[in-house]
Amino acid sequence: MKNIRLLIILAACFMFFDSYATSTEITIIPRPVEAEIAKGYFTLSPKTVINIVNGEDDLHYACNFFNKLMTNTFGNPLSVKQGTNRKNAVNISVNPSLEKEEYYLDVTKKTINITAGSSQGVFYAFQSLRQLMPLNVENGEHLANIEIQNISIKDKPLYPYRGAMLDVVRHISSKEDIKTFIDMLALHKFNRFHWHLTDDQGWRIEIKSYPELTRVGSMRAETLIKKTSEYDGTPYGGYFTQEDVKEIVQYAAENYITVIPEIELPGHASAALTSYPSLGCTGGPYKVEGRWGVFNDVFCAGNDDTFTFLQGVFDEVIELFPSEYIHVGGDECPKKRWKECPKCQHRIQEENLKNEHELQSYFVERMEKYINSKGRKIIGWDEILEGGISQTATIMSWRGTKGGIEAAKLGNKVIMSPNSHAYLDYYQSKDRENEPLSIGGFVSVEKVYSLNPVEGLNPAEANNVIGVQGNIWREYIKDFPHVQYMALPRIAALAEVGWTPTEMKNYEDFRRRAIILTHRYKALSYNFANHILSEE
Ligand SMILES: [Zn+2]
Repeated sequence: MKNIRLLIILAACFMFFDSYATSTEITIIPRPVEAEIAKGYFTLSPKTVINIVNGEDDLHYACNFFNKLMTNTFGNPLSVKQGTNRKNAVNISVNPSLEKEEYYLDVTKKTINITAGSSQGVFYAFQSLRQLMPLNVENGEHLANIEIQNISIKDKPLYPYRGAMLDVVRHISSKEDIKTFIDMLALHKFNRFHWHLTDDQGWRIEIKSYPELTRVGSMRAETLIKKTSEYDGTPYGGYFTQEDVKEIVQYAAENYITVIPEIELPGHASAALTSYPSLGCTGGPYKVEGRWGVFNDVFCAGNDDTFTFLQGVFDEVIELFPSEYIHVGGDECPKKRWKECPKCQHRIQEENLKNEHELQSYFVERMEKYINSKGRKIIGWDEILEGGISQTATIMSWRGTKGGIEAAKLGNKVIMSPNSHAYLDYYQSKDRENEPLSIGGFVSVEKVYSLNPVEGLNPAEANNVIGVQGNIWREYIKDFPHVQYMALPRIAALAEVGWTPTEMKNYEDFRRRAIILTHRYKALSYNFANHILSEE
């Protein structure tokens, strides 16, 4: 009996080592759920065709993406045809019985077959195929043909929400850089771009019914120099016109990424109050902040004009962004002004609220109802739990996972974005001397990788966690190469947290694949923290 047990254990070990030996050859990030390498190669040449066996209207976005890579390598796109499966082709079938983001990718000697639940799944199959192809497809060095290792992949994401937030308020990026950021997300199979557009230090989106927001609110007079108390004396600002926004939303859609705008309320409102001082409790004067931090002046919760204003802003925002979710901020709202404001105190009495925390809940829920009436849902930072929360709001947990756990237990949907694991503006190395100045903290790539978004939850509660997000706040991140440096390679680790089944995660295996992926970053001219993966 003992011997039989030993044999079973030994057999299990061999099976484990055998599968591991195969898996070490997989290079794709995020790691596919199932992938089996086979002998031989498919030879992709300019004569290979993209053959749509059956598909959807928007399959051309996925095909255009793949053909961009082909144009880089061959000088021309592959021709796109329709018909039954054929040889020397990338045969594409959409099968709605698969999940929307699920795909099968089979590379054989004669052909490549892709079957996916939707065009989005086809796009992810192409992203995986991309990582099996030489770097020439990225950097435009021509090849006569491409040999692709035979492989069979069955893949789908663990979570439906895989996002990254970019702050364009503390420091702004050009439209072209935002598109590159979207490209970076697409490479890692992210599907949400959370765009932080308003804050104390600037208002960065054109709102036609409130022109002062950009005329006044988009500019600050000066900015604090690094970690000193001195200012640079240089005006700083900028904003995205509605035409810019439409272009970015469309570009993201072509990469199967939904853009979620964030309009901060009731705090982080200095830029809005400077533009329209009557919306604050004191009436001002206010200024667009050149310092970082949390400021006492917030939207007055007792003034109905505040709600009229915000509704007008959201009317335009909702028109511009087709996203199901609209982010309303809700974080770091000091209650000092509300305590001293007769209008706010009157509201507390009139609405039978206990205190200023409940006044914040009143504020957020009133806006939520408005946004719901337009067919959209809200996301708020975990502070919106304080003072009570509606059942329909989605929580983005940033102060660790505590708020997320609490919300998931209450039955609210949750996105885990804890500063302990997902704040990509924190230092990524302990060797601070040799890193660009950062806001502080320490989140190594291994720490990002170790995030388990459902830790501390039972299976039913865990179902409320819809995904993960990495955040790039930009107090000290002035330019786009620095954004890339903070994001790469850490978003690769987060991509795997969001995609790959937790029981399959293995940091050493990830690190090996991530080093391979950094060669692709280089070919794409992405700046990245090159030393980070070798350092650990
Ligand atoms: Zn007030």
